[in-house]
Amino acid sequence: MKTEILDLTPVSPGSRRQLTRHFWDAGGGPKVYLQAALHADEMPGAILLWHLMELLDTAEAEGRITGQISVVPFANPIGLTQWLQGKPQGRQDLETMQNYNRGHFDLAALAGDALEGQLTQDAGQNTKIIRAAFAKALKALAPKSENEELRQRLLQWSHDADLVLDLHCDHEAVMHFYTSSSHPALTEALGRCTGAVLALMEDTSGGNAFDEAHTAPWRALQKRFPDHPIAQPTFATTLEYRGQRDVSDAQAQQDALNMMAFLGAAGVISGAPKPAHPPALQTPLNGAGEVFAAQGGIVTWALTPGAMVEKDQILGHVSDPLTRRRLPLLAPNAGLFFRRDLHPFCLKGQGLAHVAGETPVRSGDLLSN
Ligand SMILES: [Zn+2]
Repeated sequence: MKTEILDLTPVSPGSRRQLTRHFWDAGGGPKVYLQAALHADEMPGAILLWHLMELLDTAEAEGRITGQISVVPFANPIGLTQWLQGKPQGRQDLETMQNYNRGHFDLAALAGDALEGQLTQDAGQNTKIIRAAFAKALKALAPKSENEELRQRLLQWSHDADLVLDLHCDHEAVMHFYTSSSHPALTEALGRCTGAVLALMEDTSGGNAFDEAHTAPWRALQKRFPDHPIAQPTFATTLEYRGQRDVSDAQAQQDALNMMAFLGAAGVISGAPKPAHPPALQTPLNGAGEVFAAQGGIVTWALTPGAMVEKDQILGHVSDPLTRRRLPLLAPNAGLFFRRDLHPFCLKGQGLAHVAGETPVRSGDLLSN
């Protein structure tokens, strides 16, 4: 293992933040980039990477690393320091309230003009040319804030990876992941290896989340340069490792072993565990219907995430003890009740849960804030 530490440019006198990457490099083979805690209040992925790094050390000692693996356990040193009134607030940048996992740089927009007249009739060669143009465009950026510099640095590490795995968690949820349609075999392998029960599929979800920043640009360049063959070389995914409180060594050790199985399936290590799970249920991201609170009050749940439900089935209730009115929370569509809010109290109109169905029920930006 080697370690690279980058200093972010100080934004105020007397303070400095650093970004750390550990990597295991066999000198060739597929390149994998894993990060956790981009939403800095989400620890299940970070503890998974703690245990994964021990397994990677052993694999390296046994000569079983066959690719390049980068691990960034804390991808957001800015968010890690954001605590308010005793609670971590790592989802949004407190200075701008921008979600740390939205609005990442658009590599096709940054590098597109420089690619005019540069592409060939060879898709493999074009992948190299495009990745080089991405690297050059990222280097030329002049970040206007610490958060922008953080985004630049993370993309500089990840933009040329063949696999990008961004580890997150939900409020309370079964394990699921988001990905695009571009690599169906890896999508199936990811479910079979990790045990995720649901894959939410979308090519353009809006908001340019970190995973999408690695796949959408290739689609945009395919449209812009239709006379040249352009591949989709990167498999990128956002993995939701259950809920914010699902942090334990026992679970993370098993998740790390499961991740080793996926790294084996992706050809980055040899002698990996075999996939031990059924494939994840695949539904379109726009088929995930949201349940909203019709009044403010106390939230109680009748079902736990993981239940298959019918449309209008009762998931829980919101009770107002002042008016003594209790309203049901009804499934907006049939499908898998896969996530719900962490807090047992809500405001009127608040989104409280999602049910993943086969039929599109939403349009526009498909990601929450
Ligand atoms: Zn997250």
